[in-house]
Amino acid sequence: MVKELVGLSKEELTAEISAIGEKPFRAKQLWQWIYFHGETDFEKMSNFSKDLRKKLAENFTITRPKIVAEQLSSDKTRKWLLEFADGQRVEMVYIPEEDRGAVCISTQVGCAVGCKFCHTGSQKLTRNLTAGEIVSQFMVARDTYGEWPSPTNETRYLSNIVVMGMGEPLHNPENTIKALNILTDGDGIAISRRRITMSTSGIVPQIERVLKATGVRLAVSLHAPNSELRSKIMPINNRYPLDEVLKACQNYQSEDGSRYITFEYLLLKDVNDSVDCAHQLIALMKKYKLRATFNLIPFNPWPGCVFEPSPNAQVKKFAKELENAGFAAPVRVPRGQDILAACGQLKSKHEEK
Ligand code: SAH
Ligand code: SF4
Repeated sequence: MVKELVGLSKEELTAEISAIGEKPFRAKQLWQWIYFHGETDFEKMSNFSKDLRKKLAENFTITRPKIVAEQLSSDKTRKWLLEFADGQRVEMVYIPEEDRGAVCISTQVGCAVGCKFCHTGSQKLTRNLTAGEIVSQFMVARDTYGEWPSPTNETRYLSNIVVMGMGEPLHNPENTIKALNILTDGDGIAISRRRITMSTSGIVPQIERVLKATGVRLAVSLHAPNSELRSKIMPINNRYPLDEVLKACQNYQSEDGSRYITFEYLLLKDVNDSVDCAHQLIALMKKYKLRATFNLIPFNPWPGCVFEPSPNAQVKKFAKELENAGFAAPVRVPRGQDILAACGQLKSKHEEK
């Protein structure tokens, strides 16, 4: 059986190369072919002899997920529906800005957290993605935009990664850690750790572990200023209550004082968008002495959801309260709504129309 190389750590790749009787420096070269050049064809690896190229092709493979569908929004946001070897599918999104852009990658097929406002959460969990499946999503985006070999930081369109697609990354910590370490490796894809943000619904025992192992930035889906309300819209709050989540955030900041945490706050009409909610939120930040930035997210509706987006005027009022208290509170501009590519809209099995 040929073995998939995408997703192996450098050590694992070296072991595979030794197992076919080759020297470790070949593993280094192969790593560069895979992750710096984006090459998938052993025949094109020009610094390998004909015999070695043949041997590699007999033993290994470098595959990409299959692109089942690709949609381009009127605002240039692009969404891919990707299929893995066993037929399971996820969605991935690219959100371009003027001279850069973020690729939003998935970590699971579906999600077990079941937040009431989330389209992905209505799909249940099918399985975790492997490290290779997480990394290869980004590689597909680079294929599409022709961004191989890895460009220098200044010239990248695919400059940032947000782990905010389908799934809860901290329910798949091993593979997420492995994938993030491959994506940030300086000999390959080389996305800087500070350009990667991982969002979590607050799986407390894993927060510190994954951040320590990867050094990426943290975003926390808060969405409510008290535990009672949070439990209503995010049942995970019964397992890991708000104050434990915020204590974990406090720990993270006490170890690395320079890091701000982004708190994502979805504004749902008449649920969590009152001025009183904003005041409670400010009090919470003060209580836990958190250095925080807010990201206010307008709710993106999906077929069958029970919530409505907060009206614009209310969103502005809410933002103003936070800003008056000294917090940055930008409102996230929804992108790719016309192709269901915006936050919380991803799903790999859409209802038949
Ligand atoms: N599971 C992780 C990461 C994926 S969700 C998490 O929950 O943080 C990425 C972000 O989209 C989260 O902040 C999530 O709460 C938000 N989101 C979910 N459903 C949404 C919707 N319908 N509209 C807008 N944002 C949504
Ligand atoms: Fe899962 Fe995040 Fe959606 Fe909640 S918001 S169901 S954690 S993907």
